[in-house]
Amino acid sequence: MNVVTIGETMALFTPDQNGLMRYAHSYSRKFGGAESNMAIGLARLGHQAGWISRVGDDELGKAMLHFIRGEGVNTDCVTFDTEAPTGLYFKEFRKAGDIRVQYYRKGSAASRLSTADLEEEYIKQADYLHISGITPALSSSCRDMLPEAVRMAKQHGAVVVFDPNLRRSLWSEEEARRTLLDIASQADIIMPGIDEGAFLFGTEDPDELGRLFLQQGAAEVVLKAGSKGTYYFNKNGSEFIPAFDVETVVDPVGAGDGFAAGYLSGLLDRLSPGDAVRRGNAVGALVTQAEGDVEGLPEREDVEALVNKDSGTED
Ligand code: ATP
Repeated sequence: MNVVTIGETMALFTPDQNGLMRYAHSYSRKFGGAESNMAIGLARLGHQAGWISRVGDDELGKAMLHFIRGEGVNTDCVTFDTEAPTGLYFKEFRKAGDIRVQYYRKGSAASRLSTADLEEEYIKQADYLHISGITPALSSSCRDMLPEAVRMAKQHGAVVVFDPNLRRSLWSEEEARRTLLDIASQADIIMPGIDEGAFLFGTEDPDELGRLFLQQGAAEVVLKAGSKGTYYFNKNGSEFIPAFDVETVVDPVGAGDGFAAGYLSGLLDRLSPGDAVRRGNAVGALVTQAEGDVEGLPEREDVEALVNKDSGTED
């Protein structure tokens, strides 16, 4: 297994018309969750990814599992929870550039994940363990589980990759800051957005953020700046890799997860850090071109076509 990830995936409902959701009567049903989005992205690029989770023992949970397994992700460590439902979320397209997300996930099956869900034999197969800052915000059992997953991964030589993925609605600012910084100090690679860096350290200056995250303990810092591109820092220096130009952004949600898939794919293929970030940028850009979190995740040839066509243009 190249990468193992842990986290919640929800059934995603998108109204079939734009505008206020109160007027929507029909919805398209999809699935989305930062970690499984990333795992699907890796599978689409030809890598082996495994996803640890809990889903409700309900029709949505079963459909979700079929979907994610069907995308080529290993789901051997996903269990059905008979006491809690699959979480839901809704995306509301109010107008161009104004997309809102509403979660119905409190008490969900995945929020009941705990250290009992971690199988060391499973985690030890991974070259990389990918975790996000959404999981510790779900519940105290989830919060306690992550350090144990990190311990297992490190014990078997896996690289720990952390995407802070701040979700302000799930917890208090103080708790979020404390917990995310603590996990950041255990991660080998950290992939925050500039806004998350600003939340954690009170500055939006990329160089300053790179320095602070390195000081916090990560060996590699990948700082995402949306449509501008991505900054990369390690002990040897730093580089800015511009984003790829896209004509129109259809749905920006999931670009960060796509970026993570592309970047990890680059590392697995032993590209240079700069080229791995470039592949991440390409996947992130392509994800914005389709509605849904995973529908725009590209096949390998689409990424290569974009990377070869254009080495990126600065915003
Ligand atoms: P999310 O949590 O919504 O998935 P994020 O904040 O983690 O996203 P972003 O910075 O929005 O991540 O996007 C990740 C990467 O995807 C960027 O670094 C960039 O390379 C690419 N990307 C995102 N938006 C665009 C865009 N509009 N045009 C081109 N590339 C983009």
